[in-house]
Amino acid sequence: MNPLFSLIPSERGPIVNLWEQDLGGPLEISIEISGLSPLVQINEQVSKAQAVASDPAGRKADLHSSVSGRVIDIKKDFITIREEGTRVALPADFSATEPAAMLEALRKNGVDIRNLKKECTLIINSVPHEAGMDGHRFLIEEFTEILTTGLNYLKKALSPKACALALPKGMNWTIPGCTGHEIPPVYPNSLPELVTKAVTSNEMPPDVCVMNVTELYRIGRTVHGKQPVTLVIVKIGSTPYLTPVGTPVGVLLKAAGFRPAEHDRIILGGPLTGKTVYSLKHGVCADTQAITILRPDKEPTIKDNPCVGCGECVIHCPARLMPNMISRHAEFGLYENTQAYNIASCFECGLCGYWCKAQRPLLQYIRLAKKELAAKPIIEDLREQR
Ligand code: SF4
Ligand code: SF4
Repeated sequence: MNPLFSLIPSERGPIVNLWEQDLGGPLEISIEISGLSPLVQINEQVSKAQAVASDPAGRKADLHSSVSGRVIDIKKDFITIREEGTRVALPADFSATEPAAMLEALRKNGVDIRNLKKECTLIINSVPHEAGMDGHRFLIEEFTEILTTGLNYLKKALSPKACALALPKGMNWTIPGCTGHEIPPVYPNSLPELVTKAVTSNEMPPDVCVMNVTELYRIGRTVHGKQPVTLVIVKIGSTPYLTPVGTPVGVLLKAAGFRPAEHDRIILGGPLTGKTVYSLKHGVCADTQAITILRPDKEPTIKDNPCVGCGECVIHCPARLMPNMISRHAEFGLYENTQAYNIASCFECGLCGYWCKAQRPLLQYIRLAKKELAAKPIIEDLREQR
């Protein structure tokens, strides 16, 4: 099998704690706040776990500082905080027992609750998102109690009809209270839409919520510790790093011994679905599971070539879409035309771009079109995805 498609978890090695490395000075974290409003000002002292940005509409989760420090810069999309001191925010309140208030407490403490629905079938997904993105193995094998705390909280808040654990075939992972469903560990079987189909035998049923094990762990840890989770496990190569949310990509790569060269592409996530960063100062997010480096001399580079009509992208699209047609319209700014090709059904697996003979940036065009459409009041379900 192409190793790019193997979702068999690798053997568990030790986790490297970034704070135990010699960073040569205080850490400067960069927290991405796109679409949120800052709650702090330049030069303000902030505590670890203090909220620093929130959604004026009250939908997205609040963001928190992962260090005690001082705000040194605020841009439209980022807040930069230099580590200093040891202040920690006061404990959060999780005493609510009414479901809506329980979910709101999660949102205020950094958990994205937009996809959680009452009386759903709740699927916990432990299949690695892409090859090598298996840092959560440590969590599912070592932190059963925390995962159970998170699941019990969700059971009270959502009253789910059923709870399932999707796991890579061959692993003996369990979470008490969840029925196990083995998934063939081959990409793209890990994606929520395909996990849902494998577990429920239905395509896109309306009453299913899928969350990955790391999200469940964050909920359990947040409720247990009465503080937002400020650390994240990020895999670089075969090594998982435990690091504060917002740690600059460049700091992590240096700690891991990687020296990016000119024209390398640094990706948050995996090569098929990840997003390229434009600066080594870009901080890792709470949901960053890996950093990937694509080197132009080893990996094919995408180009603005015209479509040659080979059909490979259509053959390999697991959503049975026509990425060739979607990309042709998106390329020339005809975003509304992409609706006729069901762009909303694309679950961004990236396989069309992988197989494209012309090396067209198909997923990038699709994401651009979705973003442009979501900015206009046209498709309700696209807005919900954001
Ligand atoms: S990213 Fe491409 S291959 Fe994947 S679902 Fe979307 S259109 Fe299909
Ligand atoms: S794989 Fe690329 S070149 Fe072939 S039809 Fe799709 S977009 Fe066109």
